Amino acid sequence: MPNIKDIINEREIHNILEETQKPFSGKILEILNKSLKKKGLTLEEVGYLLHTQDPRLIEKMFKVASKIKREIYGERLVFFAPLYVSSFCVNDCEYCGFHRRNPTPRKKLTLEEVRQQVIILENMGHKRLLLEFGEHPIENPIDYVVDVIKTIYNTKSGRGEIRRVNVNIAATTVENYRKLKAAGIGTYQLFQETYHRKTYKKMHNGPKADYKRQLFAHDRAFEGGIDDVGLGVLFGLYDYKFEVLCLVSHAQYLDKKFGVGPHTFSVPRWQPAETVNWIQPPYTVSEDELLKIIAILRMAVPYTGMIISTRERPEIRAKAFEIGISQTSAASRTSPGGYGTKKELAQFSLSDHRTMDEVLKSILKQELLPSFCTACYRLGRTGQKFMSLAKPGNIQNFCRPNAILTFKEYLEDYASEQVKVLGLKIINKFLKQISDDNIRKETQIRLERIENGERDLYF
Ligand code: SAM
Ligand code: SF4
Repeated sequence: MPNIKDIINEREIHNILEETQKPFSGKILEILNKSLKKKGLTLEEVGYLLHTQDPRLIEKMFKVASKIKREIYGERLVFFAPLYVSSFCVNDCEYCGFHRRNPTPRKKLTLEEVRQQVIILENMGHKRLLLEFGEHPIENPIDYVVDVIKTIYNTKSGRGEIRRVNVNIAATTVENYRKLKAAGIGTYQLFQETYHRKTYKKMHNGPKADYKRQLFAHDRAFEGGIDDVGLGVLFGLYDYKFEVLCLVSHAQYLDKKFGVGPHTFSVPRWQPAETVNWIQPPYTVSEDELLKIIAILRMAVPYTGMIISTRERPEIRAKAFEIGISQTSAASRTSPGGYGTKKELAQFSLSDHRTMDEVLKSILKQELLPSFCTACYRLGRTGQKFMSLAKPGNIQNFCRPNAILTFKEYLEDYASEQVKVLGLKIINKFLKQISDDNIRKETQIRLERIENGERDLYF
């Protein structure tokens, strides 16, 4: 087993935080320039950016991050929906509404209930789901997780189908990761919550209290054949500067060891939850700080996707889409069965309560292109294969047409009149920007095929 220090060297990170406390503007400008090369940043450079307070320099950071985002991800924003499957949990995480001390009865979806939730999500236009489970070896064993995944892939409603299932379950064994891979999952996400060991100990009780089990989970997932993994911390538990350096350090470790960095970073901030008696988390992260974090991660690890959820207010989400976010959820629920009418225990509360239609309207007004694409994963463009296309910028040749085609499907099958009008304008705008003549012409042909009823056409 590798050593904790291979991933997180706490002493080194504290030293960097000490030494980078007083950044001068020349240094920051030099780092911003370097980041434009899209080769990433050192931990020390990230330290300087984290300590920057000058609003003019922060504004510059946003501009640079936004440029990098545009160059790598273009105008696209990929949509997914979380699906809470079970709130049974043996852990006692201080911050979470599913912790075992909460006496509210728990809910675990039957496979028939999973099917019903999936039909609702497909009828909203979703093609990608992120499954969420509490940790419970008896209620939520791996075979149940696998059955849920199979049920989802087999559920089709009208023209709807789920084409990629990502999973967020507790750290587990190589053997179980193999089973998830065999069931056809996309990304395996697991958040360290906090990389700070003392805080980690304070926050956890139960099997999750094992810091090493959590930290090396992604290594085991790779060993089990999963090459798309997602990292994250729960902002609010400890100093965000320390956490961001650790996230970057963890990403660099994975890149070095497996030749491919994390597929995504998630940047959740703590939200109020039933029976968690916090008015504020121990280390509150403001909205402005969250935006700074997103911009810094975009510059530090440019080829890793970044996810923002409906934990955040619409205004903050809109700004985050500009400066670094590549994937987002909309109209989410955080309880098992939450997309129906029954009220069950929710994991935490949300700040964006808009419908899918409202979210789409607002991102189209921002001139962004919604994408429901799942092509890479289905064509085996994952892990190293994905990175070898992404790094020289070649992935753009596929992504823009695929976004256009999957959004066109959405407009045909699910959109309101207003979204359809706005959406067609955006499609036309970006269709013209496909630089390869053959791909542009073929995209145009496929748009007509979609109008004529064909589905699931991708490059
Ligand atoms: N139970 C698994 C685990 O803990 O790894 C699966 C994921 S859990 C359902 C999803 C994530 O929700 C956790 O990793 C945690 O970061 C986040 N979370 C928990 N409580 C939260 C809260 N009160 N506000 C915001 N996010 C929270
Ligand atoms: Fe359980 Fe996950 Fe919540 Fe912890 S964060 S109590 S492991 S559901």
